[in-house]
Amino acid sequence: MRRYSAMPEQGALTIVRRSSSRSKAESCPTPTDEQLDSLDLDTEHLPAVDTPDACDKAALRLRYLLRQLNRGEISAETLQKNLQYAAKVLEAVYIDETKPAVARQQSAPTLVFRRLADEDDELSEVQPDAVPPEVREWLASTFTRQLATAKRKSDEKPKFRSVAHAIRAGIFVDRIYRRVTSTALMQFPQDVIRVLKTLDEWSFDVFALHEASGGAPVKYLGYELLNRYGMIHKFKVPPTTLENFLNRIEEGYCKFHNPYHNNLHAADVAQTVHYMLCQTGLMNWLSDLEIFATLVAAVVHDYEHTGTTNNFHVMSGSDTALLYNDRAVLENHHISAAFRLMRDEECNLLQNLSREEFREFRTLVIDMVLATDMSFHFQQLKNMRSLLSLAEPTVDKSKAASLILHCCDISHPAKRWDLHHRWTMSLLDEFFLQGDKERDLGLPFSPLCDRNNTLVAESQIGFIEFIVEPSMGVCADMLECILGPLHSSSKNSTSSAEPINEESTGTKDRNENSSKFKIRKPWVACLSDNKKIWKEQAAKDAEARAKQEEENNSVPPTTEE
Ligand code: AMP
Ligand code: ZN
Repeated sequence: MRRYSAMPEQGALTIVRRSSSRSKAESCPTPTDEQLDSLDLDTEHLPAVDTPDACDKAALRLRYLLRQLNRGEISAETLQKNLQYAAKVLEAVYIDETKPAVARQQSAPTLVFRRLADEDDELSEVQPDAVPPEVREWLASTFTRQLATAKRKSDEKPKFRSVAHAIRAGIFVDRIYRRVTSTALMQFPQDVIRVLKTLDEWSFDVFALHEASGGAPVKYLGYELLNRYGMIHKFKVPPTTLENFLNRIEEGYCKFHNPYHNNLHAADVAQTVHYMLCQTGLMNWLSDLEIFATLVAAVVHDYEHTGTTNNFHVMSGSDTALLYNDRAVLENHHISAAFRLMRDEECNLLQNLSREEFREFRTLVIDMVLATDMSFHFQQLKNMRSLLSLAEPTVDKSKAASLILHCCDISHPAKRWDLHHRWTMSLLDEFFLQGDKERDLGLPFSPLCDRNNTLVAESQIGFIEFIVEPSMGVCADMLECILGPLHSSSKNSTSSAEPINEESTGTKDRNENSSKFKIRKPWVACLSDNKKIWKEQAAKDAEARAKQEEENNSVPPTTEE
């Protein structure tokens, strides 16, 4: 089982939720003018730099310094001393963050409380009895990882596209232009055309598409999407090149005959991304190149998946783990192999992109697919939440698209029960096959991989409650935040403008915040229905286990000994 140094050990998930142990008002409030006016800039009597108090003091001083600089009322010496103090405070927090987890947990609670990016936060909310230990262990080993300390360049300010584009959102799909002559386009079988009529629905039946397409859902869905969004025309993708590319991608997904990580999953994720792009209006916030990259990232995000987890690659010392130094092993492979495929001229969708477009596209796809590594999950959610809590959040396009792809990747529990159930059984089949391999190799079972000892219903409840629901929640908040201004500008500028998608999710929202832009959230009801069914199943399973145990206990001991 994967053990990152920052990962809580089993049973350690009840750590008090550190960053929530302060009230909202208390944590880093923006200082008032009165507070700033009464500030004493003395640097002799400040709290030690590695205490929570120091952070507040440093923040307050920085605010004050900024104000005084604006007014031109500050001496160089005072400025220097206070900046030095603030820098030390920040360094202390950083150093604390880089300590191993065990050391952090043993250090003073004040230090732990001040960790900058506490990825265990979400998981630490899991109460000891809320989920069985196996499920906790699986959640911890799959969805957390050591903090990545690399700092990215600051995010570009998002640009809102024109009002005309905003209006276009609601009426997008059927009116999107198709400038490529119909003769050059790939021919679609009638059955495929019939299934694709429901392409814009949340609970689109990708299994039906698989059947209708003779086992080639990626080929038809990928083609249809890139055509609908005008990508073939815009980026001058030769239709046969696209067809070759999609055929080869589809083959790669079928290489290991995986029950779950196969071409159906790729098509499912791509369709869900399409829903997010077109039904929420997100496509109007993104550039053509960003849409192109997002769709391609969805299609290739698990290309040549081996049907085993990153943990298995690391523990078995696979060639791929060796190649990628145990980091995001599969994700690195999916991206690298997909770009390698595009080196073949017959499959090179990007042949007519300019050098700059190619670089931007490649960076976007790399960022998005790497962010599907589940061990990055809590960090990703936490980063987005903190960003959205700012007074004027500026969401980076790549971060937004990455979160969308991540959510779509784990969205099947938020789809209709029949679809979700089928996906879950396929994934468990795949996990159990991995468990068989682990047993043969003498490796310990990874969580959920022991076919004789896995609590299916409980693990699904855990997955929904602690992973999928929070993800969809943050995703919806992010969409409402970035699309709200776009929506209001379209409403203000033209009286005939259709709202992009205005649907309140409850009376509370409607009453309290009637003007706030809301997206439709069909996943909310599905998640709740599915959870209910799993809970009923879990109760039945527990009953059956108790009965079995009772029977075992009542069997008289054999006389063999
Ligand atoms: P990916 O491997 O990129 O498809 O990411 C999806 C990951 O989410 C899977 O590998 C699992 O770790 C997790 N996941 C998806 N569905 C389930 C499920 N029903 N139960 C448990 N884990 C799941
Ligand atoms: Zn996936």
